[in-house]
Amino acid sequence: YQAKRDRTGVEVYESKRDSNTPDRLGLLGDLRRALDAGEVELHYQPKVRFDGKVAGLEALVRWVHPERGRVPPDEFIAIAETSGLMPHLTEYVLETALAQVARWRAQGLKVPVAVNVSPRDVHTPGFAGAVAARLARHGVPASGLQLEITEHVLLEDPQRAADTMAGLTGHGVKMSLDDFGTGYSSLVHLRRLPVSELKIDRSFVARLAVDAQDAEIVRCTVDLAHSLGLLVVAEGVEDDETWERLRDLGCDAVQGWLVAAAMPPQEATAWLLARGERGWRRPADITAELA
Ligand code: C2E
Ligand code: MG
Ligand code: MG
Ligand code: MG
Repeated sequence: YQAKRDRTGVEVYESKRDSNTPDRLGLLGDLRRALDAGEVELHYQPKVRFDGKVAGLEALVRWVHPERGRVPPDEFIAIAETSGLMPHLTEYVLETALAQVARWRAQGLKVPVAVNVSPRDVHTPGFAGAVAARLARHGVPASGLQLEITEHVLLEDPQRAADTMAGLTGHGVKMSLDDFGTGYSSLVHLRRLPVSELKIDRSFVARLAVDAQDAEIVRCTVDLAHSLGLLVVAEGVEDDETWERLRDLGCDAVQGWLVAAAMPPQEATAWLLARGERGWRRPADITAELA
């Protein structure tokens, strides 16, 4: 176990010696600077229901490093998580996302934005109150924000996680359980967490149309979630066949490249304005209508 300080005074804790490489430490320092310099951006990916209505957009961080180029979120989020920088990153993401929600609302676009929060955030004392205060500051109602968490939130201190989540629910903020199916004993977690939506991980969705076992897993997940009163969103939907299977299995909404990839704010705004009241329609359906 090692504790170090980087140039900006962030404490760097590493449980594994081999993960404390100069490269990771370099990237960490760069991330901190990038956040302060506003180099980290949010892109937005729509979540649409089968009737085409836009259920919301998920905010996904994008960081283009001046020398390394695009750094995948999975990579720098793991670093932020183990370094103590996570609260700073989450603050930045929440702040940026809520400012965007407020701008969209001012344009008459009342779509909620989903922000990914890490287990670390949920264990930060006062997190629920801080989120509520931020909503108020931006003049955004709780219905304008969703939080996506993974079941890893229960690994460390389940009681504190449950308290924070109860606090958030109390303020009217809805939560989704992200990457469902990738953890263990997911059923137990579902019962314990006050979430209103479940997102089926892309790993089960990707081969849904060709793999009977994956299809069965998705079917059971949808049925279970519905019996618990939860909405089900499938992530990583890339083609028509998968979309049709999910619709037939009773899934509520989809997210994926079939609809749109995560888009920078201006492009997302144009996308929302172009869909208008009618919502999103599959290219296949539009073609069929024109024929
Ligand atoms: P996630 O929350 O499960 O997000 C979904 C990921 O799937 C995103 O990857 C998205 O770009 C990708 N994706 C969406 N549709 C498709 C598709 O049709 N096909 C394929 N192959 N991929 C698709 P991304 O943006 O690289 O983010 C990876 C993960 O990083 C996220 O997984 C989330 O766990 C984390 N993350 C992203 N932004 C944030 C953030 O602001 N805060 C935190 N704590 N974590 C974040
Ligand atoms: Mg997510
Ligand atoms: Mg996910
Ligand atoms: Mg995922």
